[in-house]
Amino acid sequence: MSSIRFQALREASNRKLIDFQESGRKSELFGSNVFNDKAMKQYLTSDAFKAVQGAVQFGTKIDRKLADYIAMGMKEWALNKGVTHYTHWFQPLTGTTAEKHDAFFETSYDGSDPLEKFGGAQLVQQEPDASSFPHGGIRNTFEARGYTAWDPTSPAFIFGTTLCIPTIFISYTGEALDNKIPLLRALSAMDEAATEICKYFDKNVKKVTATLGWEQEYFLIDKSLANSRPDLIMTGRTLLGHTSAKGQQLDDHYFGSIPTRALTYMRDLEQECILLGIPVKTRHNEVAPNQFEFAPIFEEANLAVDHNCLLMDVMQKVAERHDFKVLFHEKPFKGVNGSGKHNNWSLSTDTGVNLLSPSKTPMTNLQFLTFFINTIKAVNDYEALLRASIATASNDHRLGANEAPPAIISVFIGGQLTKVLAELEGVSTGKLSPEEKTDLKLNVVGKIPDVLLDNTDRNRTSPFAFTGNKFEFRAVGSSANCSNAMTTLNTIVAKQLKDFKNEVDVLIESKDMKKDDAIFNVLREYIKQSKKILFEGDGYSEAWQNEAAKRGLSNFKTTPEALKARASKQAVELFGEMGIMNQVELHARYEIELEEYTKKIQIEGRVLGDISKNHVIPIAIKYQNTLIENVKGLKNIFGSEFESIAKEQIILIKEISGHIEGINSKVEEMTEERKKANTLTDAQAMAEAYCNNVKPYFEIIRNHCDKLELLVDNELWTLTKYRELLLTK
Ligand code: ADP
Ligand code: MG
Repeated sequence: MSSIRFQALREASNRKLIDFQESGRKSELFGSNVFNDKAMKQYLTSDAFKAVQGAVQFGTKIDRKLADYIAMGMKEWALNKGVTHYTHWFQPLTGTTAEKHDAFFETSYDGSDPLEKFGGAQLVQQEPDASSFPHGGIRNTFEARGYTAWDPTSPAFIFGTTLCIPTIFISYTGEALDNKIPLLRALSAMDEAATEICKYFDKNVKKVTATLGWEQEYFLIDKSLANSRPDLIMTGRTLLGHTSAKGQQLDDHYFGSIPTRALTYMRDLEQECILLGIPVKTRHNEVAPNQFEFAPIFEEANLAVDHNCLLMDVMQKVAERHDFKVLFHEKPFKGVNGSGKHNNWSLSTDTGVNLLSPSKTPMTNLQFLTFFINTIKAVNDYEALLRASIATASNDHRLGANEAPPAIISVFIGGQLTKVLAELEGVSTGKLSPEEKTDLKLNVVGKIPDVLLDNTDRNRTSPFAFTGNKFEFRAVGSSANCSNAMTTLNTIVAKQLKDFKNEVDVLIESKDMKKDDAIFNVLREYIKQSKKILFEGDGYSEAWQNEAAKRGLSNFKTTPEALKARASKQAVELFGEMGIMNQVELHARYEIELEEYTKKIQIEGRVLGDISKNHVIPIAIKYQNTLIENVKGLKNIFGSEFESIAKEQIILIKEISGHIEGINSKVEEMTEERKKANTLTDAQAMAEAYCNNVKPYFEIIRNHCDKLELLVDNELWTLTKYRELLLTK
């Protein structure tokens, strides 16, 4: 009775609401803890301010002298806000963020002259002891050390009493050791390629920015209850647990009234976000009990990725104050919906145009169609790479699980735009007659604004859907760093735009075509070539699985299968040509992702073996002993009659023995499979062995445990149950 479960339940039911009050208007507080333009204007000389602006907008280098001035201003600003430490804040290939705090405080060698110091050198570059970060062989190959370097495009911020400076993490030989460098390179490739295309339509465009608005789903579980489950603590998900009688079947949670305790947490979190300049906007209940979502106003993609990483960290920290634990895992609970992180993506120009937004004039709509069709073509040609960019052990639970997009990548565009594409497909080859052009402009291209109405009827089963003025990449996992998906998406579209430009220019120059004619001609061919990726139907259906196979679309249900695309010739050529990752960098990521997969499954296997043998079996035996005592007692009282009186108890005793045997033998077999897998040296083979030979035992073992949970006296069961985890508010 004094088990951790009952203690946790007592704690959870005695929670007092934390008193929280917003400390002012969001618009006034916004970015108070960010070294943004406003702070820079106040603390920097105009030269220093201009240097940062140049670096942000055009990537110009900041010289050492100015870096010293910038550091000085940054330090003053931070000290005035009570900050004591600074850190380079970066995103190693662990998928999370990393930081090492140094105090501003310094003394002379003899301990005299204490003061706060921070110069350009500390701002611009640091060398963390990087040997323990995953590098996929990069650092061995080159015997190179790694360093972090300031990324001025993402402003420094204060969290707690620490000044955090977003940085890249790179080896001395120039290989990216993090998630940010490939993303920055992809965004810059996108800027270059898209700006060139924009010039067909508007000579004034000088820069194109990729925008990202993520929607973060998560579970909020009482801290004591979550901590009472070793599987949640160690793997982020429940490896066993019988489904609760009441789950999400009444649809009473989605968009429901937010429970007070959760709402107080959200308000507190929002306040932190606002101070940090994260423009959070939307909060609501999600489908599963205790599942919620947070979404911001979209931002430039690099900043948005940083903000999402920061948010995930801050969410966990604020949760501590409210005695919650946040679960970011894609599938923490069997039988209820998992969590995703839709990545809403678009492109916008420095002249203020959203390139994926249909507008009023035929000319700007031709620009819209150009970007729209090129994106579809890119996804068509690189669907396997896009699938690989979201492949993780935890996301495997979600993709194709009939609640989230399938593992097949396809594009949904809605009825209106499907019609527009069909019309464009009929455009004549070669130069267009004036009549045809007028007709196109009036009746096809000119009519697109209506599309916005059409897309209110959205297809929620599509992994990549056009939603009126942006694409929504829905297959991204809730625990993921968005940079992987964003790097891949921006790279493939940039490559596609580059090819498009070449093809259009060839038609203009060699075939003496007008610009519009050339664009229509190339787009027509793209529409023909991209048919297989367009799908408007039910992505969850069996029929789509068959149809997709016929179309030749990939359908990688597991991470080891999906990741192969990362090592493909196509990937090497693409990322190489676009200058995003060389072969070494690409291969390193492939290896790291495979290893991460293997380790995750390995840990889950160990934890499951441990819990089932050390928790479940002893409980089952305890209960079985009670039954045995009971049967013995009945025999004492009733003599030979006991068999009919104790019939049910005897059946139970046998059933329990059956499950105990099942757990024991299956855990043993699973352990043998782990041992075999561990002898493999090839990362791909090892991941496959874990996936195909170890993982299948999880469900079998779980099944025995979950059956026992139903049989055993509730008072004896030490593992906090689903109904308690999910329905405690
Ligand atoms: P939902 O898809 O849940 O219905 P919305 O359509 O309101 O919600 O938008 C979801 C997200 O899309 C928000 O985070 C929003 O900031 C983002 N978003 C809107 N426009 C753009 C854009 N042009 N680029 C990137 N993200 C965008
Ligand atoms: Mg959405």
